[in-house]
Amino acid sequence: MPQPTRPLSSDGQVTEIGCPGCSGVLSQWMDGDGPHLRFVCKVGHAYTLSSLLQAKEAQLEDALWSAISLFQHVEMLDELLLKQIDENGLPIGTEGLDARLQQIRAQAALIRTMIEETVSPDLEQEGDDPRADSP
Ligand SMILES: [Zn+2]
Repeated sequence: MPQPTRPLSSDGQVTEIGCPGCSGVLSQWMDGDGPHLRFVCKVGHAYTLSSLLQAKEAQLEDALWSAISLFQHVEMLDELLLKQIDENGLPIGTEGLDARLQQIRAQAALIRTMIEETVSPDLEQEGDDPRADSP
């Protein structure tokens, strides 16, 4: 992750894209006379277009793994509740819990497949200006 460089003034075009390095909003800049875009947040995290895309791809993968972790937690708690009901003869219907348990497992598998089938583009190109990532 790029380190913050310097606080910025209010120049640049504010985007609706969140900074991968903090919770700030990114502003979009043209870098010099070339076609390169820079994205900079208020605290100074700076990205080229391709480095921002890569950072967002990484954030997306992290979010999907977090979702899988949550599914596993819900699955464990669902199983524990079903066990408690069974072992203690509790007067609680288990059809809904059984159905949700199957659904949770299927949904987690779908997300895992999404992660495994994701094709990350190779964004390293000649002429990509790495200066935006340097202090
Ligand atoms: Zn930031």
